[in-house]
Amino acid sequence: CGIVAYIGHQAAYPIILKGLKRLEYRGYDSSGIALYGNQIESYKKKGRVSELESWDSPILQEAHAGIGHTRWATHGEPTDANAHPHQSNSGKITLVHNGIIENYASLKAELIQKGYTFKSETDTEVLVNFIEDIQINNNSTLEEAMRIALKRVVGAYVIIVLEEGYPDRLIAARKGSPLVIGVGEGEHFLASDASPIIEYTKSVIYVNDYELAIISKDDIILKNLGNEPVTPYIQQLDMEL
Ligand code: GLU
Repeated sequence: CGIVAYIGHQAAYPIILKGLKRLEYRGYDSSGIALYGNQIESYKKKGRVSELESWDSPILQEAHAGIGHTRWATHGEPTDANAHPHQSNSGKITLVHNGIIENYASLKAELIQKGYTFKSETDTEVLVNFIEDIQINNNSTLEEAMRIALKRVVGAYVIIVLEEGYPDRLIAARKGSPLVIGVGEGEHFLASDASPIIEYTKSVIYVNDYELAIISKDDIILKNLGNEPVTPYIQQLDMEL
């Protein structure tokens, strides 16, 4: 129900944790964070966001990129296993998702036939493996696999994706669910609304439907699902904390 991500010069964990707390008003039943330190690690729990404070790992200091999620369960009970982030079978792709994948059942059946296995009942875990399957079959970049996958997905979503081997980059996409990018100096913030971002920067970009954002600490590249570049429109927030 809420999404937060960070990439930049600061430690990602405290920023994401605080951001998730700012999104608590939207309602949720579980939450989780994935961080990219030497590799990607995630921690997710049913219940309050403060449950994530019991995470104890060197990655909490090391990681400068990460994604966080508060879940409002639509597919599968509120449990630790159904909480986000979700990881693909190979472990290469980790993502958070707000929204619903309406055609998840047919996609899941296809993937099970191909030998994919699932640890949760969520539509989200179907999506992450669907992207992985396309990436493997087409031998393509994550970005290209996401474009192909999202053209076949029916529903509403905002997703933010981490990929093993690419510690300096997040890829986000949206259709029907809100996504704001906060533009800082050598850092970028992503969230469902501006409330987790406003204390760091007032320069924001509202991502439009059917757009992909490729984000590193210094750059934002926006593209549509046809792989055409879109010029980011940076607005100044006129909002107090
Ligand atoms: N449909 C997803 C799930 O049930 C995401 C729900 C949400 O937006 O929080 O896990």
